[in-house]
Amino acid sequence: MSALGDVIKAMIAEEGPITLERYMELALLHPEHGFYVGRDPFGAAGDFITAPEISQMFGELLGLWAAEAWASMGRPRPIRLIELGPGRGTMMSDALRAARIVPDFRAAIDVTLVEASPVLAEIQHETLLTSGAPVGWVPTVAEAPEGPAIVLANEFLDALPLRQYVRSGGRWRERVVRVDRAGGLEFGVARESEPFILAPGEEGEVLEVNPSAHRLVFELAGRLVKQGGGALFIDYGHAFTSLGDSLQAVRAHQRVDPLVEPGEADLTAHVDFAAMTRSARAAGAAVYGPVDQGDFLRAIGIDGRTRALTERAPPDRAGEFELARQRLVGKNAGEMGGFFKVMAIANRAIPPPPGFEPEPPRS
Ligand code: SAH
Repeated sequence: MSALGDVIKAMIAEEGPITLERYMELALLHPEHGFYVGRDPFGAAGDFITAPEISQMFGELLGLWAAEAWASMGRPRPIRLIELGPGRGTMMSDALRAARIVPDFRAAIDVTLVEASPVLAEIQHETLLTSGAPVGWVPTVAEAPEGPAIVLANEFLDALPLRQYVRSGGRWRERVVRVDRAGGLEFGVARESEPFILAPGEEGEVLEVNPSAHRLVFELAGRLVKQGGGALFIDYGHAFTSLGDSLQAVRAHQRVDPLVEPGEADLTAHVDFAAMTRSARAAGAAVYGPVDQGDFLRAIGIDGRTRALTERAPPDRAGEFELARQRLVGKNAGEMGGFFKVMAIANRAIPPPPGFEPEPPRS
């Protein structure tokens, strides 16, 4: 058991079983032993690899997407360019470099990075040292400076701690983590049931709810409605709310048991885009998508960008851009294009952002 495992067991011995939500929060962000707090988990040598780490094209295209969105907002100055959970800062660095081809936009940008991990904030600082843009850090999006904003979030919502309810004995009970007889951690269910959940369900079925994601999207949408702007969420998940257990733990690119070594593995869950849509609309924002990442990246120009980079590359590197493009847009197993989805939320005063159809009329 990891150091954090011992901390959690002591906590359970004192307070009783803890909810999955609390467990996930501790596993990811415990101030001493949390997964994101003590390490750089990204890249081939790390625990997992994300789109900006696969290719510079990802961040570059988002930088140009942001430039177009800014123009459609009436070119406000300054424009807050906010990124949620920036990892190594790679995507922002690529976006800022690409934005140089729109000098007015580039000059108006004021960057805010929302990062809970001090170790990653330090890495982001180094990555962006030579970007030339003013960059600030805040631990929560609520603390980001006011004003018209463009918000980018890649693989952020999937890291927010979720709750699970298990259908047990004809009732929904919240999933908890407790200590088993052998002194390890195991899942159980709370004694009290949840009378407010009315969904049907068969014994053992799992219902997921992510209160922190709901709150974040609702508050952010409210800000965009009031102060102007839009946000882009890219993540893996489903377009419709459905039952099922999507919690997964990954360490060194392998699926592992989420309870065996808390703090040593990444814990994520599918994003319920339908639920996020309800939150954003409840705050008065327009919602676009979700669309497949592959379709989105092609709509905003990844094919042309791939050709341009390939033509300019030295012969020994010419093949890498097409390989990266295929990995980002392809929809086969192991490719990201169909598995990841892209959703935008925006102030209703601005037109649909690049890459999206107008919002369908609602009854
Ligand atoms: N966007 C990056 C990293 C994704 S991993 C990429 O695509 O490579 C998730 C990121 O969100 C990490 O930077 C992590 O430290 C940060 N994070 C996770 N939970 C957070 C929270 N509650 N508040 C702020 N940042 C958080």
